[in-house]
Order: sequence, then C-alpha cells, then structure tokens
Amino acid sequence: METVEDVTRMRLVGGNLALDFVNTRSGPPDGTPDDDVLTGYPELIAWGVYAGALTEAEATALRRLSRDDPGGARHALRRSLRTRDDLDDVFRALATGGSPGTSALARLRDDEADALGHAQLDRADTFVWTWRDDHTLARPLRPVVHAAVQLLTTGALDRIKGCGGCRFLFNDESKNRSRRWCSMDDCGTTEKIRRYVAARRTRATR
Ligand SMILES: [Zn+2]
Repeated sequence: METVEDVTRMRLVGGNLALDFVNTRSGPPDGTPDDDVLTGYPELIAWGVYAGALTEAEATALRRLSRDDPGGARHALRRSLRTRDDLDDVFRALATGGSPGTSALARLRDDEADALGHAQLDRADTFVWTWRDDHTLARPLRPVVHAAVQLLTTGALDRIKGCGGCRFLFNDESKNRSRRWCSMDDCGTTEKIRRYVAARRTRATR
C-alpha cells in the first residue's frame, strides 16, 4: 500500500503541473501502468502540496474538510482520477502525434469551466487565477486542470513528449528539442548502460 510519503518521492519531471499529475502513475512506455501513488484523498492532498498546487494551510483545511465529509472526499478522488485519465488520453495522443478524443476534451472544458467558476483574479506581475477562496474538495485539481488548458491553448504542442523508457510525459523545454528521457538520472542512465552493454557485446563477437 502506498503511503503519503511515497507521493513525495515521485519525481516532478513533467515541466507542467498537468503532466506531473499524469505522471503519478508509473510503468512501461506502452500498456497498463503498474504503479499509482494516488491511492486515497490524503495522497491527493499530499501530492498537491508537493507539486506546488496547494499551500500547507490549504492542505490542513482540506484534511479537516475530508474527515468531516468522507463520502465527498471519495467522490472528489474519483473525479480527480477520471480527470487524470482524460489528461493522460489527451497528452499521450499529442506526444505520439495523434489527436485527442473529443469526449476527453469536452470533459476537460467542463472541468476548466468549473475551476474558473471557483477562481478569482489576483494581481501578481500580471493578473493570475487563484483558488485561495475555494473551500471545496475539488480544490486540489483546479490548478492542474487550468495548467492543462494553458498548455493546450498557449504551449508548443510538439514539445509534449513521452519518455523513451517509461510512461512519463514531459514538456521538452530544451533549446534544440532533443530531450528523450523523463530524467537523465533514471531512464536516460538505463538507456546509456543498455547501449554500452550492447556495444561491448558487439565488439566481443567480432
Ligand atoms: Zn522515463
């Protein structure tokens, strides 16, 4: 069973909050995921703090709210996981050169409308959407959904890629768009070792 601690061991390599949310499931590049850190509402809150979507004060308030309304928390988790499926479909399609499904996009629009309905415009350098007065159990997902729509509407779609070694998605912010791995310390290293071993084997059989 995953613990809240496992959530904070996830690597945030997506370069975008929505892609990091998709990356809460791990596994091989193709096929079904073999691990998921979002096993309960407390894990969703912990991930939100870890990924920068929630402040500690917001997390404390949400923990209290979810204890008072366990049914509501279960529903909020189910909705969050459905949104994650939609984001997975949309961004994985783009990463592989395909087109996202229209029903996933329609649900994402509804989620964004709901998110903005609970947001306010706060002044930073420019005005930004914030959710500091949103005291609903859906609060953790608001900035995730908004980040997804921002990436779709203002990002460079050809920078959205899937790791060559695992199912993680990332926004390739490298200058020459050459990033292939979620992380050089992880899948990148595995690939370098694989190539090294293969090259040695080739030399040995010559
Ligand atoms: Zn990887």
